[in-house]
Amino acid sequence: MTRTLIAGNWKMNGLVGSLTEIERVAAAVAPSQTGPEILLCLPATLIHPAAAKAEGSALKIGGETCHPKEKGAHTGDISAEMLKDAGATYVIVGHSERRADHGETDAVVASQASAALRAGITPIICVGETLAQRDAGDVLNVISEQIAGSIPSEGAADTIVVAYEPVWAIGTGRVANSEQIAEVHGFIRELLTKQFGEAGRGTRILYGGSMNPGNAEEILGVAEVNGGLIGGASLKADDFLAIYRLA
Ligand code: PEP
Repeated sequence: MTRTLIAGNWKMNGLVGSLTEIERVAAAVAPSQTGPEILLCLPATLIHPAAAKAEGSALKIGGETCHPKEKGAHTGDISAEMLKDAGATYVIVGHSERRADHGETDAVVASQASAALRAGITPIICVGETLAQRDAGDVLNVISEQIAGSIPSEGAADTIVVAYEPVWAIGTGRVANSEQIAEVHGFIRELLTKQFGEAGRGTRILYGGSMNPGNAEEILGVAEVNGGLIGGASLKADDFLAIYRLA
């Protein structure tokens, strides 16, 4: 059975003082082999101390991006190996903010996901349409292109996670409705089963975009939604734990 994943994305938020929130999350989640998985993807500066706080709990720690290469002359970048060394077990790749701010293309995202697999951490590969693309009726074409271009050839059904994040729903308070989510998640599932065969039924597909404790139950109940990628509402332990408890 697919294990639900509740993943937070702190983006460029959080100082050392914010580790108290992480400590609160960790204290509330006992390790378990069953039930939903819980993860916080953090700015690189917080990964190592957060992993120390999370030790012995069910809370996992992840990064927010990684460089395709293992090491070298890439000032300011972080490799997947460095994330793993600091205690990360997951990394987000292809978030729409990275695609927009840093011009990361599907090919770059695929090489980052590939780097994560090489380092032994799980890539969460983000896809999603802009409002203009939705208004133009282009949603499924965009998703199909992003999935085809962003999943690396060595990815397997159980070594990757996909996140559907409509760009217009991120940080806007505007949530995709259940029909919109069901349509795209169902479509992604079809693409994954074409690529991976029956095993593609087990790949986790997360929804992301203004998820909060008030709407999480409905979203997590939509067919083919296997968890959430949560930005703003993951910053406060109480909100994040409330979503986790609804999963
Ligand atoms: C995100 O950054 O991945 C996200 C979904 O953000 P928010 O929940 O704030 O919309």
